[in-house]
Amino acid sequence: MTLTTHAIVGAAVVSLVPQHPILGICAAFVSHFAADAIPHWDYPIASSSVNPHYGMPMKYDKSFWIDVVRIGSDGSLGILLSVLFFAPVVGLLMAILGALAGMLPDPLQFVYAHFKHEPLVSLQRFHTWIHTNNHLENSIAFGVFSQVLFIALVVSFVRFVV
Ligand SMILES: [Zn+2]
Repeated sequence: MTLTTHAIVGAAVVSLVPQHPILGICAAFVSHFAADAIPHWDYPIASSSVNPHYGMPMKYDKSFWIDVVRIGSDGSLGILLSVLFFAPVVGLLMAILGALAGMLPDPLQFVYAHFKHEPLVSLQRFHTWIHTNNHLENSIAFGVFSQVLFIALVVSFVRFVV
């Protein structure tokens, strides 16, 4: 899923157990894998030095900078929205830490691509295994809409139901 979705889910998870911050952050990290198991859409990664499936040596070409901008905006939006939705519940720091923990497994894939050592090897194997093979790639509109819907469900559940 997009980093924005992972961040919001992470912050939502931390908000569920405000009295147990460490447990919340660990659960936010684990939430990444649960979310990736759901069929979803992902935007393509342009650079073969950023894409963990290739792990080519770093090349600072145009596709690399496309990824920096795209992934950077995605992650920043995730932190921004997590703060907006969950700082009122759990405080600014915990909302940010929850968002970062929710996103963390994806940057770890990048680290793995360039540094194939344990525990990253096992983590990458697990991440690839649990990640759905059902990629909704035919339609960006539907892909984005479905993640917005998923975010709306998660936010309303944690903010208004629990
Ligand atoms: Zn992932």
